[in-house]
Amino acid sequence: MSVQTVAAKMAEVELKDVAGKDPSPAISPLTPKVEEKKSENNSSTSAAAAGEPSPVVASPKMPQVSAMKRPDPQQNGGEAFVNCDGTVAEAPRMKKIQFADQKQEFNKRPTKISRRSLSRSISQSSTDSYSSAASYTDSSDDETSPREKQQKNSKGSGDFCIKNIKQADFGRREIEIAEQEMPALMALRKRAQGEKPLAGAKIVGCTHITAQTAVLMETLSALGAQCRWAACNIYSTQNEVAAALAEGGFSVFAWKGESEDDFWWCIDRCVNVEGWQPNMILDDGGDLTHWIYKKYPNMFKKIKGIVEESVTGVHRLYQLSKAGKLCVPAMNVNDSVTKQKFDNLYCCRESILDGLKRTTDVMFGGKQVVVCGYGEVGKGCSAALKAMGSIVYVTEIDPICALQACMDGFRLVKLNEVIRQVDIIITCTGNKNVVVREYMDRMKNGCIVCNMGHSNTEIDVASLRTPELTWERVRSQVDHVIWPDGKRIVLLAEGRLLNLSCSTVPTFVLSITATTQALALIELYNAPEARYKQDVYLLPKKMDEYVASLHLPTFDAHLTELSDEQAKYLGLNKNGPFKPNYYRY
Ligand code: NAD
Repeated sequence: MSVQTVAAKMAEVELKDVAGKDPSPAISPLTPKVEEKKSENNSSTSAAAAGEPSPVVASPKMPQVSAMKRPDPQQNGGEAFVNCDGTVAEAPRMKKIQFADQKQEFNKRPTKISRRSLSRSISQSSTDSYSSAASYTDSSDDETSPREKQQKNSKGSGDFCIKNIKQADFGRREIEIAEQEMPALMALRKRAQGEKPLAGAKIVGCTHITAQTAVLMETLSALGAQCRWAACNIYSTQNEVAAALAEGGFSVFAWKGESEDDFWWCIDRCVNVEGWQPNMILDDGGDLTHWIYKKYPNMFKKIKGIVEESVTGVHRLYQLSKAGKLCVPAMNVNDSVTKQKFDNLYCCRESILDGLKRTTDVMFGGKQVVVCGYGEVGKGCSAALKAMGSIVYVTEIDPICALQACMDGFRLVKLNEVIRQVDIIITCTGNKNVVVREYMDRMKNGCIVCNMGHSNTEIDVASLRTPELTWERVRSQVDHVIWPDGKRIVLLAEGRLLNLSCSTVPTFVLSITATTQALALIELYNAPEARYKQDVYLLPKKMDEYVASLHLPTFDAHLTELSDEQAKYLGLNKNGPFKPNYYRY
């Protein structure tokens, strides 16, 4: 297999691009040296101190720590799973299908469709919901289910099921636009220089089918993989993009507005096909993995690994692993450093303003804003609003984050101290009942209340559903709640995640995730058998660093290279990894 060569070539080009030199790294970013898990106390500190690369594989303990850190509130008990040995066992019951409105998970991104839908729906029916808004590319007069249509692409293939193949040209333009903001994937294609690190890979995928995913799929294909794909969400498919993919020869089974039955049918069409068996899984939410476990457990004999993106899916994998039922190695992409930073800090820094602006047209300058929680999300929101000239207050329960807020120039307050004067309240705690009715009773007229945290528990919305208060839907996702004296507060997205419900996510953020997924697939597909066991792994840190380095050329950023002397002094390999696993960034 030529992955080593490809990887070395990619690394060479990468280092030339980034550092302007060609140091021919001893360890390729695509094939990092992966140490076997040694013990639960395997310390990266000592490795770094000894001048060795830090262990890049999560220690056996790590998955549990991550799983505890990011619990899945949607999990409930009870379905049958077939073990690797063919026996049937009780496993956590997966939520059969998750509707966009119910999906509170931050990594379930609104798509370009939803963005357009929102701008349309604002001027249309005020009761339109995010999830039910139609793509402007849908032909609403065409009610025929795609399952009943016979469609073929221009090459005569009909191995797909989508809304309308005639939308392919438009979808192609969407994909080309996304390519502009996904430099790392485009670089991966280029850096492979004709080599195919995924030659022979048969990837079955279940993710949002958007222009960004299309860029990922076309990259995987350029690197040698065959792909069959279904949607992980019944509303998020961009029909025109699905059409462009089908026209390009991809077996795509997805359309916007699938029924629950369609959803599972599409997944089944991806895996249950004569003469083709997947050997890699790329999942977002765990539904595809679940389906294969339930219906085709024997397929796992040929599957080399699972790459999972979402909090929910990762949580399910850890549960399977804990119960000894995970049949193949799995890569937890969700908790890689680059993805976390981009999802939580940078994405929120951009999308808070977008979400507020689209829904309320509010001017930020001079407004008094209180941000509850100064973690990654709170830091992003506070920084964005401060930059716009808002006066930002912060609430915190943790003295360390509180001190950070003070050092960053924010006034640390208790919510009740400022509740009467603030114009905007944003919750970012991941906690519950942070803004309760008592506070909302005391807010001033016109105060905007919204949430950027994971679930809709942060604002006690239920307490506003009392007879004396009147609700007025003024725009999609915007409610005025009116008190008997005429005071009204502006509640956004009924307390659900503001950016998920009301704004879009920058393609660059999705580029990080997609690149991480591609590298995780390459790594799992090419790893020698002994490297990964039937466990859940974090992406090796060296690859995390590689994902970041692939995005640097966009900014014409020039990375400094360690001298031999400096590398020795710090006890580091010149080519990374540059930080121990415990480093917090
Ligand atoms: P975090 O743990 O880094 O930060 C949360 C902060 O809230 C902590 O510092 C905690 O001390 C503080 N806090 C808890 N209860 C509080 C209370 N009652 N009052 C004031 N502060 C309180 O987490 P994070 O990465 O910042 O994520 C926060 C939430 O946002 C999570 O629910 C996460 O899932 C979600 N999230 C949303 C997006 C998005 O796109 N909107 C992206 C990533 C994460």
